Amino acid sequence: MHLTIEQLDNQAKDILANFDNNTISIKERASIPLQEMPAQDPLERINNMEEVALGYTKNQVKAEAMRCLQCKNKPCIQGCPVGIDIPAFIKKAAEGDFAGANATIKESSLLPSICGRVCPQENQCQYYCTVGKMKKDVGQSVAIGRIERFVADYSRENNQDITPSVKPQTNKKVAIVGTGPASVAAAADVRREGHSVVMFEALHKAGGVLVYGIPEFRLPKKLVQKELDGLVDMGIEINRNFLVGKTRTLEDLMKKDNFDAVFIGAGAGLPKFLNIPGENLIGVFSANEYLTRSNLMKAYDQKNSLTPLFPSEKVAVFGGGNVAMDAARTAKRLGAKEVSIVYRRSEAELPARKEEVEHAKEEGINFMLLHQPHEIVGDEKGFVKGVKVVTCELGEPDASGRRRPVEIEGSEQVVDFDTVVVSIGNASNPLLKQTTEGLDVNKRGNIIVNEETCETSIKGVFAGGDIVLGAATVILAMGQGRKAAKAINEYLK
Ligand code: FAD
Ligand code: SF4
Ligand code: SF4
Repeated sequence: MHLTIEQLDNQAKDILANFDNNTISIKERASIPLQEMPAQDPLERINNMEEVALGYTKNQVKAEAMRCLQCKNKPCIQGCPVGIDIPAFIKKAAEGDFAGANATIKESSLLPSICGRVCPQENQCQYYCTVGKMKKDVGQSVAIGRIERFVADYSRENNQDITPSVKPQTNKKVAIVGTGPASVAAAADVRREGHSVVMFEALHKAGGVLVYGIPEFRLPKKLVQKELDGLVDMGIEINRNFLVGKTRTLEDLMKKDNFDAVFIGAGAGLPKFLNIPGENLIGVFSANEYLTRSNLMKAYDQKNSLTPLFPSEKVAVFGGGNVAMDAARTAKRLGAKEVSIVYRRSEAELPARKEEVEHAKEEGINFMLLHQPHEIVGDEKGFVKGVKVVTCELGEPDASGRRRPVEIEGSEQVVDFDTVVVSIGNASNPLLKQTTEGLDVNKRGNIIVNEETCETSIKGVFAGGDIVLGAATVILAMGQGRKAAKAINEYLK
């Protein structure tokens, strides 16, 4: 059973009463227990779209920050793709200087309230944390992401956030394709140098996956909007409903519209399918479409949204990654009675974050592990009525290091479902490649760039984020956006 926010706050108060941050020893720091994240009750939250994790209280954040040993060699920093000075910001948080902590983070990362929420910290900064290593459990590492989230939220809510300054206007213009985290980071850093920046977004809302993919209950959209408003305040123009490659080609932007440089941050938005029979039946969705309907088109808000909801009772979600967890948890909130993750390996191999799996379980999502879908079965009207699955067992590890699923002969069965959400990954959209002469891509369709500068095979055209890395993470996309912006600013000198 989860403790209430008051109970958790009281526990933190006791810790603060027992230890003085100025005199506490390393041994005492290591004795402070991990501060639990207050969360909405599972039975309540499956009936709403509100954020699940409620955020630390002031006392909790101070108590958690006191767990940091201020290691001299700062191992945690090597796990952060943008190199945030983690011990420095945590020290300020422990002292109660939350705005100062936020300012330290902002020297390296533009979107701390977003990264603090969605970074897979246990594989990144927290993976390297000495406290986790000492306790032989990465789950016991200092909760770097939660502290980051708190100080960013606090600074924003108390008008102590930092607006980046912009140098005097140059006569250079830069086009940014896409408005996801790679593009946001690139746009801000290019604009800071005084260049004009215009962003082009295919959808009617800016923000990329942060807006159309990651559900409201993990990342409130008002936070993303606030960051985009900040870009507009810096003088950046955002053009929506503008598909580069259709509305205008990349060449048009360079040659006819006189942009001096272009950054492509078009993401990896092309869903993959299993290519099994039945994937064109009514009631089969890609996770992208399913989540876009709910997040971007607000299908969950049936009173105010025109987007229709597909009536689902029993939903199968194919895949075991974070996107699959998001789709399954969304299906539950959209009213499905039973939702099952269908995954061909065991729980140990699930690629989703542990926290997301735990949250999904708490919300009553079933896990049909070691099952491989073979066919989606339809009724006479073309609607989904079930999924033919085969049971698997684990064999030898494959190239990914995970044990390979081996199908068990004769184990085939049809399980009743009326909706299937396919969530087995995304690839790059080929539109820009098809409409841009000389743009080199690899065999997966990802744009090939110079690793140091993010420049593509076309002079003056740079790229970063998922369109280069394949489906990756928010912070990696941002890191690439910053790297490309640095090179663009050099290029325009
Ligand atoms: P995107 O965010 O994909 O943005 C690209 C934008 O470009 C889109 O808005 C698109 O409409 C636009 N665009 C595309 N083509 C064109 C064009 N031709 N013209 C104009 N505009 C165009 N990462 C994490 O770190 N943590 C998470 O918890 C997490 N959860 C995720 C959940 C879901 C459901 C998904 C799908 C992804 C998740 N990710 C997560 C991955 C992360 O969101 C991405 O790695 C990241 O958003 C990539 O950023 P990007 O800027 O490269 O592209
Ligand atoms: Fe950790 Fe992500 Fe913050 Fe870096 S940005 S410190 S990886 S939570
Ligand atoms: Fe603090 Fe952990 Fe980083 Fe050490 S490794 S400085 S304990 S956050």
